[in-house]
Amino acid sequence: MNLSVKIIIALVLGAITGILLNVFAPDLFPPLDKYLFSPVGKIFISLITMLVVLIVFISIALGTAGLGDPKKLGRIGLKTISYFLVTTSVAIVIGIGLAYLLEPGNAGTFETEGLEYSSEKAPPISETLLNIVPTNPIQSFAEANMLQIIVFAIFVGFALAMLGTKVDKVQELLEQGNEIMMYLVNLVIKFAPYGTFALLASAIGTQGLDAIKAMGLYMIVVVLALVIHGLFTYGSSILLLAKQNPIKFFKGFAPAMGVAFSTSSSNATLPVSMSVAQKNLGVPKAISSFVQPLGATINMDGTAIMQGVATVFIAQVYDVNLTWTALLIVVMTAVLASIGTAGVPGVGLIMLAMVLSAVNLPVEGIALIIGIDRLLDMARTAVNITGDAACAVVVAETEERAGRV
Ligand code: ASP
Repeated sequence: MNLSVKIIIALVLGAITGILLNVFAPDLFPPLDKYLFSPVGKIFISLITMLVVLIVFISIALGTAGLGDPKKLGRIGLKTISYFLVTTSVAIVIGIGLAYLLEPGNAGTFETEGLEYSSEKAPPISETLLNIVPTNPIQSFAEANMLQIIVFAIFVGFALAMLGTKVDKVQELLEQGNEIMMYLVNLVIKFAPYGTFALLASAIGTQGLDAIKAMGLYMIVVVLALVIHGLFTYGSSILLLAKQNPIKFFKGFAPAMGVAFSTSSSNATLPVSMSVAQKNLGVPKAISSFVQPLGATINMDGTAIMQGVATVFIAQVYDVNLTWTALLIVVMTAVLASIGTAGVPGVGLIMLAMVLSAVNLPVEGIALIIGIDRLLDMARTAVNITGDAACAVVVAETEERAGRV
């Protein structure tokens, strides 16, 4: 049985176990979760997260060195960033459009009196962008600051390319390091079905069904927008720009989506998504190593969708009319918020505060959706990393067709 099938079965079994325990054995769930599901899930997440920082550094340094020519790097960088910006904007528009169509904030009564939410945690996006050049790369590694690691790795890769044979030992060291990392990814991924089962059982079992019922339409709108964006935006770019069969793309990338769905973390999924894109989708290493770590850090279409839907939802609940200008501000700030969102669980919701404040909506509204966000985080993370892979395929194909790879 191949890995995708195993992961999908694990996801379904995990969800069923979670629901059954939640409904029929609510007393049995807490100990099972505490001593079985949560620990197994945590070990799985730690196992793949353990590899992330080194993989990002080594693969980007080697990828940049492999591209050699700074012009080529610039062109691939430009293509990648343009793809990210365009698809993220499309994602928000789909989210906002569906939220206006289905009006989740007007379906039912939502108690807004006494809601509290502290928005202090949201880091200003300008700070994230200004700090992308690290003053101390070792600190960036220790803090797993992905953008800083990416910038440092690009510099190192550039130096490797320029210095050539003078530094071939270092290049060889990195290449062998890469072999070790990829071997470990393949080893860890074998544990994925157990990890995803445990994470799903834990996440679903913890959610009260009442909370899900109350927020049903909001959840449906977010999921629908995610599915539409995934199938149509990515599907059409694979078909039209990369001239490939979208079904093959989704099938090939499925194991990574399963891992993203269960871990809710683009960063943690990165080793798996890179390995799957290289093996199943045929993306050359140099391109996958550059596009996917960057995407896992700054390209979050699923998060942007949630932010678009949540903003309109909160406006509807508080009976605020958003003007066209306000909606444009939502699109722009949600693009920035998705760039600033770290690829770890739950950060998208924290960054939502920035979007809400930009159009003067009450940040307390976040308290309404916080209860069910854990579930939506799983779905949006799967879309987040699929966008990175779609970009990698498009960049690789267009480069290949132009005879540049
Ligand atoms: N969990 C998401 C990710 O890692 C980020 C978010 O939307 O919270 O991609």
